[in-house]
Amino acid sequence: MCLGLICGCRISQWRFRPRRPSYVILDLWDYVWVNDDGDKAHGDTRQWTQRAANRSDRYLSDKIGGIGGGHAARNDSQDGVHMVIEQTSGSQPPEIDQPLDVLVVGAGFNGLYQLHRLRQEGFDAHIVEASSGVGGVWNTNRYPGARVDSHVPNYEFSIEAVWRDWNWTERFPGQEELCRYFEHAVDTLDLRHHIRLNTQVTAARFDEQRCRWVVETTAGQIVAQYFVLCTGFASKPYIPNIAGLEDFDGTCQHTAQWPVGGVAFHGKRVGVVGTGASAVQIVQEASRTAAELTVFQRTPVTALPMQQRSLTVAEQDRAKLEYAEIFQRRNEPPGSFFDIVRQEVGALEVSSEERRAVFEEAWEAGGFHFWGGTFKDIGLDLAANRTAYDFWRDKTRARIMDPAVADLLAPLEPPYPFGTKRPSLEQGYYEGFNQPNVHLVDLQGAPIECVTTTGVRTSDGGQHDLDVLVLATGFDANTGGLLQIDIASPSGDTLTQRWSDGVETQFGMAVNGFPNLLFLYGPQSPTAFCNGPTCAEPQGDWVVRMLIHMRRTGSKRVESTACADRRWAEHLEEVAAMALLSQADSWYMGANIPGKRRQLLNYPSTDGYLMFIAASEANGYEGFSFD
Ligand SMILES: Cc1cc2nc3c(=O)[nH]c(=O)nc-3n(C[C@H](O)[C@H](O)[C@H](O)COP(=O)(O)OP(=O)(O)OC[C@H]3O[C@@H](n4cnc5c(N)ncnc54)[C@H](O)[C@@H]3O)c2cc1C
Repeated sequence: MCLGLICGCRISQWRFRPRRPSYVILDLWDYVWVNDDGDKAHGDTRQWTQRAANRSDRYLSDKIGGIGGGHAARNDSQDGVHMVIEQTSGSQPPEIDQPLDVLVVGAGFNGLYQLHRLRQEGFDAHIVEASSGVGGVWNTNRYPGARVDSHVPNYEFSIEAVWRDWNWTERFPGQEELCRYFEHAVDTLDLRHHIRLNTQVTAARFDEQRCRWVVETTAGQIVAQYFVLCTGFASKPYIPNIAGLEDFDGTCQHTAQWPVGGVAFHGKRVGVVGTGASAVQIVQEASRTAAELTVFQRTPVTALPMQQRSLTVAEQDRAKLEYAEIFQRRNEPPGSFFDIVRQEVGALEVSSEERRAVFEEAWEAGGFHFWGGTFKDIGLDLAANRTAYDFWRDKTRARIMDPAVADLLAPLEPPYPFGTKRPSLEQGYYEGFNQPNVHLVDLQGAPIECVTTTGVRTSDGGQHDLDVLVLATGFDANTGGLLQIDIASPSGDTLTQRWSDGVETQFGMAVNGFPNLLFLYGPQSPTAFCNGPTCAEPQGDWVVRMLIHMRRTGSKRVESTACADRRWAEHLEEVAAMALLSQADSWYMGANIPGKRRQLLNYPSTDGYLMFIAASEANGYEGFSFD
């Protein structure tokens, strides 16, 4: 379908159709870009972005205890309690009493990159951050075992001043090391004096007369010309509405609200609800120290071997000789990960021996290689997808001793197409279920009926007594963090009202009717399908270039057009219909939150996305209007 003309407005001369899956890990498609004369831009995607680039709940995490009885945790290292460095980052919070050029919300990868680039370009920009430290999700997701699934050096800033003197200890760094990294980045880039911690943004309205955002925070009002939200996709933890949760006498804790002092598992009866990425990591830790660990599973996770290892300084020094090129590859189409490349062929176009060899190699490489580094049609074609699932299933079942447990953890028939729910990375997750202290409860057969004072009761009458109940239940992802702020447009309607029937944005960065409001790593941009810093940098540079463009042209106000928003939303609907992604009830589809409209919330092609925003920029920021 031609996407150049929708709502009667011309957005781009380019239309596109899916051609083959992309090389990028989470890019399920590559696109052939076809203009109205049939010319193809496919195959030389790099020049697109290069061209553009050349143009130049204050979280509960600080509290000891949680939702239930809130028993204080002991700081007992032999106990497996996760120690956390409290980061009060910085001395006096900066006073922000004058109108700013840009107010940035959030001090994670995106907010810090925005602040750095904006200040480099001479904008008066500040960050306000609800949490007590920098690092975004890594400062709040302090649960035991928390670590990143993107391997070194993909998950870091490409800024040489930051990586030159920084060395990681592990291929997949843990939460504490990531927090130290963010402190290092903030100091190296001299950002500390422009970040106000412990300050939550609660509301904002656009003052038409002054053409300024008036932003309400827990530390008072801030006025700024541009309001740039870098609140992340995982700022609003999701706590399911389970009857009796408040009655639990033990400690009940969401993984994203982990207390600074940790929660003791040693010798305790621990229950974990959920089987997503955080659950896998915490289950691995708890299985080592808990007296009894009960995992409540609704849907099995297709966890992949992490293949973690230590890193030496010497090997990183050698690798740094190529970092400039590595980061360039990471940030340009196909983008995302510099070293995960899909085969040019489909899974069923090769012999079973060749297919197995490709799968084995990706498996051994570890990390997301098996998800994104095999055949071009894994995310598109059910038969191809099934070959990946079967390989994963056979490898996984071989590690589980009890066939009944294997049937639940790695069923013979796929519970959803492989890769349509995020495959977490594991280090001994499946072996944990062979231990006598680890139990699996199948919620498909018997859902949780209620939480009692002593534990969890399932609908088959099962009573699971617990001391600690961990809610690894994820997030109101993509939209939740943004909609926690009461954002009013000049006409008085709020962002919540605007999105009540589904999200519409321009490139996942702006909404018609909300001038000078921009957001990064938001809904309808690649976000969760993209390695975090890859998204932060090219998308962040694009926003900074747009603000420079406005400064140069004397524009004071920018907003996306209604038809451009509609068109982008329709495009995502088309993409969802073509992909296997829409077959799973995942948070990618908003399906984990009761009542949330089911729609694909992230754009599954970093490649296509970078080309789209480059084309808009090349055409004078098509899709946006300026005053
Ligand atoms: C457990 C976990 C594991 C992950 N693993 C990976 C991975 O392996 N690879 C990967 O690429 N990505 C991963 N991610 C995604 C991760 O979110 C991104 O990589 C990246 O951290 C996004 O950065 P950000 O700056 O956009 O958002 P965040 O890091 O989420 O930072 C947003 C900040 O905004 C603040 N904030 C929110 N609302 C307000 C408000 N109203 N007022 C003030 N401050 C506010 C928050 O406190 C937070 O500090 C993971 C996410 C989680 C939760």
